[in-house]
Amino acid sequence: MADSRPSLAHLTATPADRPVYVIGAGPGGLAVAHALRARGVRAVILEKADRVGASWRRHYDRLKLHTTRRLSALPGLPIPRAFGRWVSRDDVVRYLEKYAEHHELEIVTGVEVFRVEPAPDGAGWLLHASGGRELTGSAVVVATGFNHTPRLPDWSGLEDWDGEFLHASAYRNARPFADRDVLVVGVGNTGAEIAVDLVEGGAARVRLAVRTVPHIVRRSTAGWSAQYTGILVRRLPVRLVDRLARPMARLSTPDLSEHGLPRPESGLYSRVREGAIPVQDVGLIDAVREGKVEITAAVEGFEDGKVALADGSRVAPDAVIAATGYSRGLDSLVGHLGVLDGRGRPVVHGARSPKEAPGLYFTGFTNPISGMFRELALDAEKIARTIARRLAREATRAG
Ligand SMILES: Cc1cc2nc3c(=O)[nH]c(=O)nc-3n(C[C@H](O)[C@H](O)[C@H](O)COP(=O)(O)OP(=O)(O)OC[C@H]3O[C@@H](n4cnc5c(N)ncnc54)[C@H](O)[C@@H]3O)c2cc1C
Repeated sequence: MADSRPSLAHLTATPADRPVYVIGAGPGGLAVAHALRARGVRAVILEKADRVGASWRRHYDRLKLHTTRRLSALPGLPIPRAFGRWVSRDDVVRYLEKYAEHHELEIVTGVEVFRVEPAPDGAGWLLHASGGRELTGSAVVVATGFNHTPRLPDWSGLEDWDGEFLHASAYRNARPFADRDVLVVGVGNTGAEIAVDLVEGGAARVRLAVRTVPHIVRRSTAGWSAQYTGILVRRLPVRLVDRLARPMARLSTPDLSEHGLPRPESGLYSRVREGAIPVQDVGLIDAVREGKVEITAAVEGFEDGKVALADGSRVAPDAVIAATGYSRGLDSLVGHLGVLDGRGRPVVHGARSPKEAPGLYFTGFTNPISGMFRELALDAEKIARTIARRLAREATRAG
């Protein structure tokens, strides 16, 4: 017979009795869960999709890591050499699946966490999740991804636009755009690569709308990857790196001013600090030089069946692909805890918890020049070390 007495467990619970919940089974969450498990801490990953690596499964077909295989491995499992230097999307997914299996990670799929708040008994955190679940963890690591929610500028007239319109997150390949006139909006790495993919996939005309001219770097020069440089300069003063990058850019990439892409005035590292990672050339430079990708002014809005550009001109493509980035989507999850800055990003990341939220950690919310997978791997170890120490201290105090 079931015991009908009210449970007193919560009165004696210590954080150490409860698992650490990791929200998200992308590379960031998987790496943290492994690093915790390796230190004897039970970590349970809650993932809203039905499989690990959901973000990578959705990326466009031609995507490859632009960081090297060796410097993109997560702790405790190298990426197989057979995957090559620049790992394809499908092999990234294969690696993440293997990673979860190899480290025997505890993952509950199909569970979306909606809100995190302090546990009522003060021992950790209470998570409200889909299916009416309420879960209490000793600590929580938020690994829900930097590229969480597709973001669109507030364009006027978009609702009346009859042409095809999609966010880059929905782009898979050029097939549906063969023989069509396409405008790609935004020249981050994604917009640049989609424009090239469209050219190679037979689009009739490809234009790329640019608001702020990007820094463009070669992915690799004589075997030396741009990521190595990113790692070397990461801790140097921003102005020094900006100064060093200028002559390097002149040596390694041609001047595209006459094609509408002058060299940026602001420094490369200053831009990174503002959140703009340089564009790694995977064909954009040649496509622009050969006139296969035409650069236009930024999009201002949609009017009378046309796209209005910032220079006053109008264009009428068949399709518009908005490569306009993502927002973090953290407001409803943790915004009420006062742990986000004005841009919706966590005020701290890695091994540090916000002052007002001890035991709450964030991984993957920076945009480092040295490569995100690498950063996720480093942060996983730091976060796990800090949590393990904290739980050990609390267990000693309680027992
Ligand atoms: C096109 C593209 C190319 C990139 N290329 C590189 C590269 O070459 N090298 C590199 O180092 N980095 C690259 N990055 C950046 C970064 O490494 C990846 O975005 C990486 O997937 C980030 O891992 P993550 O675990 O932080 O987030 P994600 O991989 O986005 O994983 C987050 C997970 O959390 C889940 N989730 C979200 N919200 C909830 C919730 N509320 N409850 C439960 N689950 C939730 C999602 O379903 C998802 O599975 C690239 C990013 C993009 C967009």
